[in-house]
Amino acid sequence: MEKLISLENVSKHFHVGKNRTLVAVNDITLDIYKGETLGVVGESGCGKSTLGRVVMGIYPATKGKMTYNGKVVNIKKTKDRYEYAKKAQIIFQDPYASLNPRMTVGSIIAEGMEIHNMYDKKKRMERVYELLETVGLNKEHANRFPHEFSGGQRQRIGIARALAIEPEFIVCDEPISALDVSIQSQIINLLKEIQEKNGFTYMFIAHDLNIVKYISDRIAVMYLGNLVELASSDEIYEHTLHPYSQALLAAVPIPDPDKEAQKGIKVLEGDVPSPINPKPGCPFANRCSKVMDCCRTESPKLKEVRPGHFVACHLMDQ
Ligand code: SF4
Repeated sequence: MEKLISLENVSKHFHVGKNRTLVAVNDITLDIYKGETLGVVGESGCGKSTLGRVVMGIYPATKGKMTYNGKVVNIKKTKDRYEYAKKAQIIFQDPYASLNPRMTVGSIIAEGMEIHNMYDKKKRMERVYELLETVGLNKEHANRFPHEFSGGQRQRIGIARALAIEPEFIVCDEPISALDVSIQSQIINLLKEIQEKNGFTYMFIAHDLNIVKYISDRIAVMYLGNLVELASSDEIYEHTLHPYSQALLAAVPIPDPDKEAQKGIKVLEGDVPSPINPKPGCPFANRCSKVMDCCRTESPKLKEVRPGHFVACHLMDQ
């Protein structure tokens, strides 16, 4: 498969006080292939949304390199940022907060096209109508305001806005977690449909492993800013190797009550350590049931342990 985006040793730090650094994303190396959906999972605060914003070009990386179609992207340069913004778009988690309440739906969808000088005014409006239909709304909705819509409809507007400038890559940042369960599958199906039609590449960020499995070709598991496991969706569910991924999967309920009773849940114990000035060693060491002495001092590196299956854990060295 052809690479679209490559991250090489990318980190994102935030200074939060004197000699205090919050390491939100730590030394991630990862490729995203054209046309795939890469699911990114982990508990809240694991850095998945920050990674999404780095890949999207909203935050500049503190360290490391990102390439898009083989070309280095440096979003600190205005020209690169502007060019990249035409290719990469984001769908936000909260459809209530992400739409300007004072703008009509038509203006919200057309805004990106105006910024990028795409089409004349008439053609832009035609495109707004087309996009509203693509996402299951209609032309008449263009003159209304966001508060007149339900949560699911607002997320459809957010999707239409992301599609407006004809991007190649879309970060879906927990796009369904603020929605009712009954609406979630409609939005997922819509995202899948438009991907099949347009060949988009998605990074799909979620904490719900069931949803990620359904939509993703590959899954990246993050813990405390680190990438701890990466494999195809089937592989990661059939051969879960990292103790953290095993605990995350064990927490997913199985619809069959007999199997659910038999599985013997491994509840994650202990607290997630602070991402501020993190200690050396494995980030999962204080919660891992298989912790060894070396885990407390040496950071495990991500290694390929089966074809296409990468794990960062000292157990893989044994
Ligand atoms: Fe557990 Fe050690 Fe593996 Fe970390 S490196 S997940 S502490 S066994």
